[in-house]
Amino acid sequence: MSKYIRERFNNYEAYTPGEQLNDKKYIKLNTNESPFPPGPKVLDAISAADLEKLRLYPSPNQQELKEAIKEQFKDVELMSDNVFVSNGSDDIINFAFMAYTGESIPVAFPDISYGFYKVFADFKNVKTIEIPLNDDFELISDDYCFKDDNAPGLIVFANPNAPTGIALKINEVEKIVKNNKQSVVLVDEAYIDFGGETAIPLVEKYDNVLVSRTYSKSASLAGARLGYAIGSKELISDLELMKYSTNPYNVNRMTELVGLAVLDEIEYYQENCKKIIDVRERTADKLKEMGFFVSESKANFLFVGSGVWAKQDSLWSKIKAEEIYKQLKDNGILVRWFGKKRIEDFLRISIGTEEDMDNMIGILERKGEEWLRKS
Ligand code: PMP
Repeated sequence: MSKYIRERFNNYEAYTPGEQLNDKKYIKLNTNESPFPPGPKVLDAISAADLEKLRLYPSPNQQELKEAIKEQFKDVELMSDNVFVSNGSDDIINFAFMAYTGESIPVAFPDISYGFYKVFADFKNVKTIEIPLNDDFELISDDYCFKDDNAPGLIVFANPNAPTGIALKINEVEKIVKNNKQSVVLVDEAYIDFGGETAIPLVEKYDNVLVSRTYSKSASLAGARLGYAIGSKELISDLELMKYSTNPYNVNRMTELVGLAVLDEIEYYQENCKKIIDVRERTADKLKEMGFFVSESKANFLFVGSGVWAKQDSLWSKIKAEEIYKQLKDNGILVRWFGKKRIEDFLRISIGTEEDMDNMIGILERKGEEWLRKS
């Protein structure tokens, strides 16, 4: 940090993304990317003529993309002005914090959830109301019903939650939206395509709900940075106001083209999600058989507990999650260990190909005893 940076950033902690190491070849199970490549239409989406157009700014409004996105939701009555497009879904969370929170307008979110909520709050000097998940890491909707005089400006939670993978039923999500009319409720559906129930139909009934989605996980486009939000016209125009005040061209020309191509071959991605779900279930079963605790994940990752969380007669009850993380890394497999209160003994393991997961299980089976001797 330079001596010029504002003093208030001295103790500020930015978000730590999952490791992107290049010292050797790793099986990357630490950032919840898709193990499958983008589909053939995406690979053909960018022509030489399109590249020539890179000298021109992209459309700031992205009308074509908005139309194509809304077309996916045939059962919900949506217009293109119910859609906001963004540079990944972190962009949406950022804009929502800008629009609905402030130094005296707090934000509420679960104590165990996506790390960026806390980071944005600290960055913007916003007071946080961190609501503990229960002992089984479930979000309890009754804990989110605020009285008018202490209502936060924004309530945000991921559904399915990260890093637990546990999903909230739609009637529970609705309860939160319905009982907090004085707050905007942002439902972060980054992982919804892997088995959760979407809150998008609630947009027809409530003007205080925003649903955010990303192309980074189920659509194999983490590198393109594309996300979108669905909400009432008024909430979407709030996000537009934030965008036009900070970065009007937030979606670049190439991302616009690949985003449209995904929507043109959506079945390919749906098939990939089915495969990921299948591998997730098989991997979860194997890990449980070995004695690990595994939460019921509806996402493209597993939340895996060792130490006190593992079966007490199993090897894994004697090995800390941090040690497993380090040893897997030495053996060429990256998983995520957060080292955060309440979840020190958990790893978040993204679902890769069947072969990736078999490799990981094989290493655990072969090396576990040796790691125990070292730990
Ligand atoms: N929400 C959750 C819960 C996430 O895990 C992530 C990925 N780190 C995001 C949002 C942001 O994803 P992106 O910006 O790639 O759309």
